[in-house]
Amino acid sequence: PRPRPLTDLGPEELTAFRQEQQTAYDALRGRGLSLDLTRGKPSSAQLDLSERLLSLPDGTRDAHGVDVRNYGGLEGIRELREMFADLLGVEPAQLVAGGSSSLVMMREVLTDLWLKGAVDGVRPWSEEEKVTFICPVPGYDRHFTLLSWFGIDTVTVPMDEHGPDVEAVAALAAADPSIKGMWVVPTYANPTGSVVTQEVAARLATMETAAPDFKIFWDNAYALHHLTEDEAKTADVLSLAAAAGHPHRPIMFASTSKITFAGAGVAFLGGSVENVAWYVGHLGKGSIGPDKVNQLRHAQFFGSPEGVRDHMRQHRAIIAPKFAAVDEVLTSRLEGLGVATWTRPSGGYFVSLDVLDGTAGRVVELAREAGVALTPAGASFPGGHDPDDRNIRLAPTFPELPEVREAMDAVATCVALAAAEKLSH
Ligand code: PMP
Repeated sequence: PRPRPLTDLGPEELTAFRQEQQTAYDALRGRGLSLDLTRGKPSSAQLDLSERLLSLPDGTRDAHGVDVRNYGGLEGIRELREMFADLLGVEPAQLVAGGSSSLVMMREVLTDLWLKGAVDGVRPWSEEEKVTFICPVPGYDRHFTLLSWFGIDTVTVPMDEHGPDVEAVAALAAADPSIKGMWVVPTYANPTGSVVTQEVAARLATMETAAPDFKIFWDNAYALHHLTEDEAKTADVLSLAAAAGHPHRPIMFASTSKITFAGAGVAFLGGSVENVAWYVGHLGKGSIGPDKVNQLRHAQFFGSPEGVRDHMRQHRAIIAPKFAAVDEVLTSRLEGLGVATWTRPSGGYFVSLDVLDGTAGRVVELAREAGVALTPAGASFPGGHDPDDRNIRLAPTFPELPEVREAMDAVATCVALAAAEKLSH
C-alpha cells in the first residue's frame, strides 16, 4: 500500500505505526552498530587518488626557476595560482595560494579586519560598537563558531535552493551599519547543496549596504565538487562587485582539502588586487612564505586545470553512489509519510535532512543510542540552536557504501519513531 502521511492516521493506526517503528528500533539497538555520519571527510579511497603527491615534487624549482625550498613568495607560486585562478574564474593577480586551510585564512581576514580595518573601511572593526554578520541557515557550523569567538553578533536568513534569501539580506544590510558582512557558500553549500544563481550573486554584489566596508565571505569550498555531469559554474562575484562599484566587497576562499589531502592541501584566497595586497601585507607580519614545496607538488600532480577537473571526476565516481544510497534509503523508508524532506545535491559533501519540527534532537539521540553518530541537531545554526529543531546534516562520504546504507536505514527508523512519538502526544 502507498504510505499515508502520519498526520492522516487515526489514533489506533498511529499507535500501530509507532509500535512497528519501536520494534524496528529495538532490533536496531540489538545489532550493536557503530557508524559515523558526522563530518564531511574524504574516505581513504578518495585520499588514495592523490597518493602520487607523496613522491612529488619532481625537482625543487617551480616553472619560473624559484627554489621552492627557500623562504619567500608570500602570495604562493605562480603556476599553482594560475591553475586555480582559471578554475575559480579570477585573474592570477587576484589569487593567493597559502597554507593548507582556508578556514585559517578566513580567521586571518577577520583578525585583520578586527585589528586594522578594511581597505574600504574607516576604522578597525574592533572599534565599532557592534559588529554583526548575516548567516544563511542552515549553514556551516565552523563559520558560526568563528564569529562567536570574535564576539560578532549573528542574524540569520533562510538558505534556499538558489542561495541566501537575497531580499532579506539586502533589507538587513541596507538598514543597519553594524552589519559588516555575511557568509556565502556559493557552490554546493554546506549543508543544503544549494548553488547561488547569477541573479542572487548580482544582487549581493550590487545591493546598497549601510556599512561602507561590508564584506561577503564567499567560501567556495566545493567549487569543483560535482556529483553529476551537470557541473555548476560559480557566479563571478568579483567581476559583478567590481562592475557595481564595490570591488572590495567579496573575499573568496577555496582549498584542495577535499581534492587532495584534507590535512595537507593548499588553500586559496581571492579578491580585488587591493584586498590581496592588504591580506598579504598583514600575512607578512607573521610569515616569510608559505609551504611552496607542497604547492609545487600540487602543481605537478595536476599539470593543468583540466587535470584538476579529471581528478574531481574520480572523486565523483567514488562518492556519487553514496549520495544515491542516502536518497534511495530515505525515499523507500520515508517518502509519503510527511515527516521528512531532504536535499538531493548535485555536488558538495552533504545532505540536509529536515524532520518533523521539534524532533531533530530526538532523532539524533535515538540514533546515538543505536550506535549511529550524527552531527548534533542544531549544528548548522549559530549557537547550535535550530529554532524549529528540524535540521540534521548528513555526511555520507567517509563511510563505505554498505555502511552508508545501513546507517541511513537506521536514521530512517529514528526519524519515523521520533515523529510517531511526537504525534501521539
Ligand atoms: N568551508 C566549508 C563550507 C567547509 O565545509 C569546509 C570543510 N568542512 C571548510 C571551509 C574547511 O576548509 P579548509 O579545510 O580549507 O580549512
